Amino acid sequence: MPIMVAGYLLLCLTVALLGRGRRIGVFGYFLLAVLFTPIITLVFLLVSRIDQSPVRSLRVKVCKVCKKENAEMAGMRYCPACGRAI
Ligand SMILES: [Zn+2]
Repeated sequence: MPIMVAGYLLLCLTVALLGRGRRIGVFGYFLLAVLFTPIITLVFLLVSRIDQSPVRSLRVKVCKVCKKENAEMAGMRYCPACGRAI
């Protein structure tokens, strides 16, 4: 039985290491893998997008009113989603 637990944790760690550079990091993915099994975490990892680079995320603005993210909003004075001034 302890061998199965160790194998499970090793599998969790393997999946967690695949989450390097992601939003919640290796520790976050390790916790997810332990809680939701490594297979579900692996699927989640594969479908979730990779964090945007700092240069690109600087261009994405978030509307203070509707909280929508919009890459084209950087040069705009009004939010294209709700029409309020940014
Ligand atoms: Zn808005």
